Amino acid sequence: MTANTGPDWLGAALEEIPGVRVVRDRDELSTFETDWTRRFTGVARMACLPRDTAGVAGVLAFCARTSVPVVPQGGNTGLVGGSVPRGGELVLSTRGLVALSPVDANAAQVTAGAGVTLERLQQHVRAAGFDFGVDLAARGSATVGGMFATNAGGTRVLRYGSMREQVVGFEAVLPNGGVVSRLGGLPKDNTGYDLGSLLCGSEGTLAVVTRLRLRLVPLLPARAVALVGVVVPADAVTLAARLRRACPSLESLELFHPDGLALVRAHSGLRPPFARDCGAYLVAECAARTDPTEELATALLECPEVVESALATGRPEREALWAYRERHTESINAEGVPVKLDVAVPVAGVASFLRAVRGEVGQAAAGARAIIFGHLGEGNFHVNLLGANEHEEAATAAVLKLVASLGGSISSEHGVGVAKAAYLGLTRSPADQAAMRAIKAAIDPSGIMNPGVIFPA
Ligand SMILES: Cc1cc2nc3c(=O)[nH]c(=O)nc-3n(C[C@H](O)[C@H](O)[C@H](O)COP(=O)(O)OP(=O)(O)OC[C@H]3O[C@@H](n4cnc5c(N)ncnc54)[C@H](O)[C@@H]3O)c2cc1C
Repeated sequence: MTANTGPDWLGAALEEIPGVRVVRDRDELSTFETDWTRRFTGVARMACLPRDTAGVAGVLAFCARTSVPVVPQGGNTGLVGGSVPRGGELVLSTRGLVALSPVDANAAQVTAGAGVTLERLQQHVRAAGFDFGVDLAARGSATVGGMFATNAGGTRVLRYGSMREQVVGFEAVLPNGGVVSRLGGLPKDNTGYDLGSLLCGSEGTLAVVTRLRLRLVPLLPARAVALVGVVVPADAVTLAARLRRACPSLESLELFHPDGLALVRAHSGLRPPFARDCGAYLVAECAARTDPTEELATALLECPEVVESALATGRPEREALWAYRERHTESINAEGVPVKLDVAVPVAGVASFLRAVRGEVGQAAAGARAIIFGHLGEGNFHVNLLGANEHEEAATAAVLKLVASLGGSISSEHGVGVAKAAYLGLTRSPADQAAMRAIKAAIDPSGIMNPGVIFPA
C-alpha cells in the first residue's frame, strides 16, 4: 500500500482498498461537513464510502497505522455534533453499507447493513407482517448504524425500549481492522463480555458498526391517537400515569407546550387543535391487533385532568394529530439555529423540572426562549434554546445543572457528542469516567476514533 508521502498519500492509499470510494471534491465533501442542525460544522480532510465490511476494515487498519483520525457518519441526523468533522478528520460514511437480508419470520429477525435508513427498514419488515420497535421523526435519513451508535430512543420506548433492546447481534470493525461478528441471532448468549451492549451508545468512539441483527415486533394494524389538553404540565404527568395503568396497548406519550404549538402553527399553517388554549398538551397512541379506540376513550373519560381532547382512528386523522408534536423540530429549526438539549429526569422530578427550567434559562440568558417537548413516558425532554446568543453556554450549564440536581441525565437519547462533552462530570463520577477512558484506551490505543466525542478533546 502507498507510503505516507506525497500530497495525496492518504487518498491514494484509500483508493487502493477494494470497494472504497474516496471523495476529495470540495462541493461533494461539503455534504459531509455540516450536520442536520447546521450548528455543527467542520472541514473534512476527505471522505470515504466503503461498500462492505472488508472495505471498512481496510480503511480503519490503515488509519490506525498512520494516525489519521476518523469520524464515522451515518445519516448525519445526530443532534450533538458527533457525526461531522471538527478539523481535518477523515469522514467514514456508511452510506454504502445498505444490504438487507430477507426477514427471518420464524425468528422474527432481520440483518441490516449499518447504512440502511430506518424508513427503508420499516418498509421492508412491514411488507413481511412485522414492525420495528424504534421509531423517530428522522426516519427518512437516520441509519440503523447511527441509531445503534447513539442508542436512539424515540416515540415507542415506553413499549419496546430503546435501540439496545432491539439488537440481538452485531458486526463491527475495531480500529486495528479486526472484525467482531455476532450475527447468529441468539437471543441468549452469555459467553463473556457483551461487546454489542458496550458498542451501543459508543457514538463512533470505539468501532465502526457494519451490520446489525435486529429483533422485530408484531405489526399492529389497529391504532388510536388522542391529543389532550390539560391546565398545567403537572396534570400531564398525572394523566400519563393513569393512562399507563389503564391502557395495556399504550405505545407513546408525548408532551408539548403552548409556545411550541404556536411555533408549529406559525411554520406549518396548522389550525388550532382546540377552541381554547391549554397549559400543556399530551399525545397518546395505542396500538393493538383489534381497534384500541374504546380502550383509550374510556381511559380518558376517567381522567379529571383532561380539559380538551380529540381522538383519531384512521391514518390521516392520526397523522394530523401527531403533526402538532412531530413538526416541532423542523419549526424550531426554521426559527434559527437552536441549542438542543436532550435531558431526562426521574418521573418524580418531572413536574419540578418543568416548573423550574424556564426560570433557569431566563436567569442565564435574558430574552432566550426555551421550547420544551418530548417523551413524557420516560421523563425525557428536548429543551431547545432560541436566541441565547452569547449566553448559550451559560444557559446550557443552567439547564444541565438543574437536571443533575434532580438526579437526571444530561443526555437521554441523543448521546454526548461534542455538545455535552464538557458536562460529562455533572452526572458521571471520576471513577465512572476513568473506567470509560480505560475502555477507550484499550480498544482505540491510537485515539483515532471520533476524537473529541464523549470525552473533551
Ligand atoms: C427531526 C429529528 C428527530 C429526531 N428524533 C429523535 C428521537 O426521537 N429519538 C432519538 O433518539 N433521536 C432522535 N433524533 C436524533 C437522530 O436521528 C438519532 O441520534 C439517530 O440515531 C442518528 O442516526 P444517524 O444515522 O443520522 O447518525 P449520525 O448522525 O450520522 O451519527 C450519530 C453518531 O453515531 C456515530 N455513528 C454513525 N454511524 C455509525 C456506525 N455505523 N458505527 C459507529 N458509529 C456510528 C457518529 O460518529 C455519531 O457520533 C432526531 C433527529 C432529527 C433530525
